Amino acid sequence: MREEPVVGRFAPSPSGRMHLGNAFSALLAWLSVRSAGGRMILRLEDLDTARCKRAYCDQIEEDYRWLGLDWDEGGSAGGPQYYQSNRGAYYRAALDHLDSQGLLYPCFCTRSELHAASAPHLSDGTTRYAGTCRNLTAPEAAEKARLRKPALRVRVPEEEVAFCDGVMGVYREGLAEQCGDFILRRSDGIYAYQLAVVVDDGLMGVNQVVRGRDLLSSTPRQIWLQEKLGLPHPAYYHVPLLYGGDGHRLSKRQRDVDLGALRGAGVPPEAVVGQLACWAGLLEKPEPVTARELISLFSWDKVGREDILVPETVIGR
Ligand code: GLU
Repeated sequence: MREEPVVGRFAPSPSGRMHLGNAFSALLAWLSVRSAGGRMILRLEDLDTARCKRAYCDQIEEDYRWLGLDWDEGGSAGGPQYYQSNRGAYYRAALDHLDSQGLLYPCFCTRSELHAASAPHLSDGTTRYAGTCRNLTAPEAAEKARLRKPALRVRVPEEEVAFCDGVMGVYREGLAEQCGDFILRRSDGIYAYQLAVVVDDGLMGVNQVVRGRDLLSSTPRQIWLQEKLGLPHPAYYHVPLLYGGDGHRLSKRQRDVDLGALRGAGVPPEAVVGQLACWAGLLEKPEPVTARELISLFSWDKVGREDILVPETVIGR
């Protein structure tokens, strides 16, 4: 039987300049697709219109190109552009499908109510919903709707979802006790990441997801939604995160290790790619190399599970 071709994706949120951690996951996502002769899609996850800017989208594309990473579909590659902010009709249709299964309910809780009633924080920074609005009657909901626009939540079952991650191994989570009913559309009408990512991966035929391990704990929710929406499950590879010397995960706010700062300091792309490849376990030493030269060296077996501490002196800064 012929195996289906690999379809991967870059799915950046254009809320700032790419940092080394983003570049690390992007390089591995690209190598995994290119070493399998697959197709790469660029999808811009700009649902949070207050934080995302078009200028960042262009910058991200430019940074990928500078790193030597290309893609076949999306953004400026020609054909469909895949900005999530333009894809509301698909998310709406998915919500209708879930609603027809009786899985959705409106939630009128305010931020402070949620905070007061919340269970301890989950590893991804979200809280488990206590279920306050789960069993409102229709008249109760109608009464509340006069005062406040609701968010939409999905009713999760007492079910454990387990999957085998290509890097991190078996991961399991009890949906009800660990995450609880989660939001699919915010009260301001913005669709939630968990919904959009599942719908888009499904519609775009993505069968391989490579991303930071901060999203490992979102995956059981996504796998469960795929089942409810009749969508196939991609293979998942959650890669280690990069940490700065002060013990904080690299973020878009830590400007000193973003690609703009490195490029501004005259660091060539081969030096960045060589350092990322060394951290990934693909090179013994951080020697300058192009992304394309790494294709033949790439194997998931070489990629470790441990997070990476980025030294202050990284790449000659
Ligand atoms: N847009 C998300 C981010 O930039 C990634 C989502 C995903 O890969 O599923 O963190």
